[in-house]
Amino acid sequence: MLRSCTIMFFPHQQPDEAAWEQVERFVTAWNNHHNQGFESVAGLYWQLTLTQSQSAELKQLLAAVRDLRERYRVAVLTSQRDTPEPADYAAADFLEVLGVDLKEPRPLVQNASEAFVSTDPCPVCGAAGDDFDVVQTQPLVVDLSVLRQPSADGAAAPATGWDVVDGPGGRLLLSRRALDLLPTDPSAGIVIQPVIDAATGQPSDSAAQLLAELAIPQPCPAHTRVVGNPFCRRCGTAHGVVEGYIWIPQGQIGARQLVSRHPSRAALLSFAHPLHRRLLAAGLTGLQPTGLFMICRHETP
Ligand SMILES: [Zn+2]
Ligand SMILES: [Zn+2]
Repeated sequence: MLRSCTIMFFPHQQPDEAAWEQVERFVTAWNNHHNQGFESVAGLYWQLTLTQSQSAELKQLLAAVRDLRERYRVAVLTSQRDTPEPADYAAADFLEVLGVDLKEPRPLVQNASEAFVSTDPCPVCGAAGDDFDVVQTQPLVVDLSVLRQPSADGAAAPATGWDVVDGPGGRLLLSRRALDLLPTDPSAGIVIQPVIDAATGQPSDSAAQLLAELAIPQPCPAHTRVVGNPFCRRCGTAHGVVEGYIWIPQGQIGARQLVSRHPSRAALLSFAHPLHRRLLAAGLTGLQPTGLFMICRHETP
């Protein structure tokens, strides 16, 4: 994991004008002497992010911030973030995946506005729903010709069409080729939901939606280190910052090769690493790892 640290100074949080003057003075001096300087975010506040690999600058920055805080009561916000590196993906037990984004120039899913309804805030933690927190009320009607369109970032479609594609609300659509590569044993925890071919109005034989049988919104609280408040057990919203890996207990996963970290079971989908490797080796297109988690083994469920 590559750890990065972000320092933010907001004018309205300062105890007095003298504190903000010290911030401005420090930011100017820092920016004059370092390649990577503070940036003014929308003209509202100062922000600088340094990674662990810039250890000398980071040490200097944290010492200076401490000094500002102690001498001038300067208010500072710091946040840390761990970004997986190639070695982390290689070691991961499960890989969270997305597909290729085909939002442009015409939509893949034609009934998104009817099929998805927004949810109320979480009854446990009160988090307002995001783009993924929608309830799917009907099968997706899919324009399959879109699978042969270039991706939103301009990559040409493979001759056979894309295999793994992003739908609205973090949902995943898979080609026939991808579906045929998935294990069929029910213990694998894989649920295939038909989609409707917009051209015929009938269930499609050449694509379907992928869901997991099991949702695990809350990572293992014993092994996942969180700075701040814990994940919500109901909606899975992160109310803190994860340091290091997300861990999920083996006891919850069982023999499953697909799990969702979203209550819908249809978004934040993760494949067991050996299955993910097989899918890549088969040349599936569009499959993109976007996160990962590790399995912890202990008696606590
Ligand atoms: Zn919640
Ligand atoms: Zn654990």
